[in-house]
Amino acid sequence: MLTETEARDHVLSRITPGGSEDISLSTCLGRHAAAHVLASISLPGFDNSQVDGYALRAQDGTKGARLKVNAEQPAGADLHLAVPPGEAVRIFTGAPIPQGADAVIMQEDVSTSDGAVVINEAVVPGENIRRTGRDLCRGQKLLRPGQRITPGIIGVLASQGLSTVYVYCLPRVAVLSTGDELVAPGQPLQPGQLYNSNGPMLIGLLASLGLTDTAIHHCPDSLEATTHIIDNLAQSFDAIIVSGGVSVGDHDHIKPALKALGMPPELWRVKVKPGKPFLFVHRTEPRPLYVFGLPGNPVSAFVTYQLFVRGALLKLMGAAEHALPSVEAELAETMENDGDRPHYFRGLLGGGRFKPLGVQASHALFGLSQSNAMLRLEPFSSIKAGTRVTVYPF
Ligand code: AMP
Ligand code: MG
Repeated sequence: MLTETEARDHVLSRITPGGSEDISLSTCLGRHAAAHVLASISLPGFDNSQVDGYALRAQDGTKGARLKVNAEQPAGADLHLAVPPGEAVRIFTGAPIPQGADAVIMQEDVSTSDGAVVINEAVVPGENIRRTGRDLCRGQKLLRPGQRITPGIIGVLASQGLSTVYVYCLPRVAVLSTGDELVAPGQPLQPGQLYNSNGPMLIGLLASLGLTDTAIHHCPDSLEATTHIIDNLAQSFDAIIVSGGVSVGDHDHIKPALKALGMPPELWRVKVKPGKPFLFVHRTEPRPLYVFGLPGNPVSAFVTYQLFVRGALLKLMGAAEHALPSVEAELAETMENDGDRPHYFRGLLGGGRFKPLGVQASHALFGLSQSNAMLRLEPFSSIKAGTRVTVYPF
């Protein structure tokens, strides 16, 4: 059986990001840059006023001085004004600094009378002037390949006059739920059946990565049907996330189906709890395809998604950063793993503390639904309440 690290490294080493495309700034949030972007415009682009007030020569701004005001520079067109010695120019926030001025006094710090201002607060050279290039300089790197595009980055790209950005394409991902017992939510439930919760949960996990062009497919527990559906999905999707049917029961058909399609699993079974039967296979011809097989139990499906699928999909999406995020927290109660595999417990992270929550079993979906983080415990180990631990928020 592989360790988690071996399994994760194997999967990641097989993943290559797909193509790239130029898209509008209005649709690029959460996507990953496919090229460097360098600044073509410095910010600020010109020396300008930080306040509404009066532009002047700082040496004229002694307390009690009276300066004549004979011109006005609003934000917008540069009127190419100049400030002669002993005078001031009325100026507004964002307006270009007139020639000769080296400070702006706030309007709150002057008194006005008869076309002049009286200085009430001594002026310091440079005050209230936003200098050209102080924030960023032409040629500076704004975006690097693999960087995730945030609202702030969209803002800085727009400040350069850009209306599009070059990003990695989004993969098309299919979710395939297997099992004769499953019924789609919204349909009537017969005795012995249960609702398909993994399908919608996986769609939600994909959406949280920005993958929304997704759909839930279902297949019954027959080798023929399973083979047929996977073959069909393989024609139009880049990745398939299967849940259920990956163990060794008589009704688990994923491995034989993949084998029949010329894709015997290259990785199956990982030393982790929950989630032992995780499998992975990929092919490069006729087009790249990645298949992730998650156990059917909902918590196992969720945990293996976090450990092995999330990072792989992010890499496929072009992300440079795809490790599981982690934070330090204090353990709220003593916890024990009496099993021989590392165990990921689900719980609540808040106020710097992690507290396990609900039934810690692979089918127990409610506890997971109230949790926001996982804690990993080594086999046959315990951690005392109050210990600093690393937890993985999700
Ligand atoms: P399997 O891995 O197919 O043996 O399934 C393990 C357990 O998970 C069984 O109790 C299944 O009924 C349950 N299960 C499988 N798929 C789903 C699903 N999509 N939603 C909820 N439970 C599931
Ligand atoms: Mg099943």
